[in-house]
Amino acid sequence: MVLEVKSLGLLEESLEVLEQSFQGMPAFEAKALGDRERDILLQVAERMQDNYPYPHPLYAGQMLKPPHPIARLAYMLSMWVNPNNHALDGGRASSALEKEAVAEIAEMFGWDKFLGHLTGGGTMANMEALWVSGRLHPGKRILASSMAHYTHGRISEVLQLPFTAVAADDQARMDMAALENELKKGDVGTVVVTLGTTGVGSVDPLHKVLELKKLYDFRVHVDSAYGGYFGLVDNLDDNAAIAYSKLDQVDSIVIDPHKHGLQPYGCGCILFSDASVGRFYKHDSPYTYFSSDDMHLGEITLECSRAGASAVALWATQKLLPLNRGGEFANGLADGRKAALELHKQLQDDPKYKTTFEPELDILIWAPDAKTTQEISQKSQALFDLAEKNHLHLALLELPLNLAKACWGDSVEYNSETVSCLRSTLMKPEHLEWIADIKRIMDESLAEI
Ligand SMILES: *Cc1c(COP(=O)(O)O)cnc(C)c1O
Repeated sequence: MVLEVKSLGLLEESLEVLEQSFQGMPAFEAKALGDRERDILLQVAERMQDNYPYPHPLYAGQMLKPPHPIARLAYMLSMWVNPNNHALDGGRASSALEKEAVAEIAEMFGWDKFLGHLTGGGTMANMEALWVSGRLHPGKRILASSMAHYTHGRISEVLQLPFTAVAADDQARMDMAALENELKKGDVGTVVVTLGTTGVGSVDPLHKVLELKKLYDFRVHVDSAYGGYFGLVDNLDDNAAIAYSKLDQVDSIVIDPHKHGLQPYGCGCILFSDASVGRFYKHDSPYTYFSSDDMHLGEITLECSRAGASAVALWATQKLLPLNRGGEFANGLADGRKAALELHKQLQDDPKYKTTFEPELDILIWAPDAKTTQEISQKSQALFDLAEKNHLHLALLELPLNLAKACWGDSVEYNSETVSCLRSTLMKPEHLEWIADIKRIMDESLAEI
């Protein structure tokens, strides 16, 4: 089976342990389910067949990684309680697990002092980072590279902070000369540095941004929603390795456990190096925070209700797969990266394809060879469609023309605004073993065009 179901016995066993927490209370029997519930659930299962085959290694398109079974089970286990990590009133145990799990993430970045918590996702986490930036530097500009996540511009709009996109260089990293030009204007509050851009997986040179911080005073926020865990692997190139080694010098970091951290959706994380920014969150809630004098997570988050289950799942996963260099989790990430490098090499050696930048993490961009960018775009789309029919699921990316030119020089005629390329995020450790199949199906599909 593609779906792992053998572990369901473990769920029952652990529910029996959880049941013991009700000992001593007057007897109360939960309602049993009947035929109607069965019918509806089977309908749901049928409706859910209408998806791309995300858990299968031949799904090699978007940034979608199956949660680890332990995360799924811990999440489900906690569903019988359904804790809310807004306040200790609603989720005492899961709040404690959140504080421990978040401290482990902070430790991975080399932080022992910090303020941090989980969020619904990376967007919300980035919003908190930029909100704090705005409180510290009201009215000052937010900068992020043109390859940064699209939500930074929108978040800045919501926060009513001016936003400027900084040009990317030939390798899709933030261009340092363009950045310095903006910094010289003297009105920049925060620079968002992306370690792992969502489109192409490029890593902004954090070390160089930190050098500029010495000359121009600004906050450094790192958006590593996708790439944050790659500091654990030992097969990065120099730019990425140096950038990751500087994470102990930034003001805030976002990482998404629901991207590379093997978690179900609904799990982002924000960390601030200066815990005193907690003062901005100060508020009164007349109906919560009375059950304990300990810190309620709602006192340091913008969101109110939040799934305690996310914290339970994350804690369990990090217990099984600690965030250590050279550990099993790190090796899984490194395998995805190896897969991306291997496929990149095979495509480079094959005249039927045009490659782009060497992958910095585990995202790969390439296209079928043709004489003009219009033809390349058409072929990319056709290959995307045919590969899907042949059970290989890829993604597409509109590559800006300046980046295409940086990769392909005069070998192509540029007769379109952008060029469609194929994109793969090889984020399952199993992808490494499937590279030969992925390449074969791609070749067979291309031959049909
Ligand atoms: C995915 C992503 C986001 C947005 O995070 P969500 O969890 O989808 O809200 C922000 N920045 C980067 C770099 C991302 O990859």
